[in-house]
Amino acid sequence: MTESLQAACETALAYPSQPHSRRHGPQGYTDASAYKPWLRDEFAFRCIYCLSRERWRPDGQEDFAVDHITPSSVDPSRSRDYDNLCYACCSCNRNRQDAVLPFQLDRDSIAQHIEFAPDGTAEPLSADGRFLIRVCHLNRTLLVEFRRRLRSLLDLLTTHRTAHSESVLRELLGFPSDLPDLSAKRPPNGNTRPAGIAQCFFEQQRQDRLPDVY
Ligand SMILES: [Zn+2]
Repeated sequence: MTESLQAACETALAYPSQPHSRRHGPQGYTDASAYKPWLRDEFAFRCIYCLSRERWRPDGQEDFAVDHITPSSVDPSRSRDYDNLCYACCSCNRNRQDAVLPFQLDRDSIAQHIEFAPDGTAEPLSADGRFLIRVCHLNRTLLVEFRRRLRSLLDLLTTHRTAHSESVLRELLGFPSDLPDLSAKRPPNGNTRPAGIAQCFFEQQRQDRLPDVY
């Protein structure tokens, strides 16, 4: 098994260890949903709260939503501000509603506040983590069961290594097939971080340097 595949198995259910540093900066869309392709790439096609990936959902990106870090009810002026938007599965987005996040994603990593136990339970490491688990319902029964089953499956496939098990792992931990081509997008008011385009996953795939798993 390659090192990258082993690492992807170990981190599939772990929050990124560093605060999120934005790669993209599209500006000027009048509809928040127009930012979705950018956010899919920005947050690697997974829910920032529960870490569910598009690949793990039968309907892929249809199960994901544009989530407002500061809710529009609290600050309507930021409802279409890219730096106030993130990517969440529809369940976490719906559960969170208008709860104000207890920390800033560009300063704090959720890893400092929550970790997942081997049985799939989200365990708080701080009062802020406990708050986020509660408002996003991160210990909803079916989600905990899903994480436990996924953990068992990853462990099984990494223990019994065959060409077939590695191929299944690559299916589980690979990127979605419909990567957005951000270079073709024309945000009405430009892009404050144009350098991110060359690093988007579509470009990496076009240049044959997209990792096979993550
Ligand atoms: Zn979620």
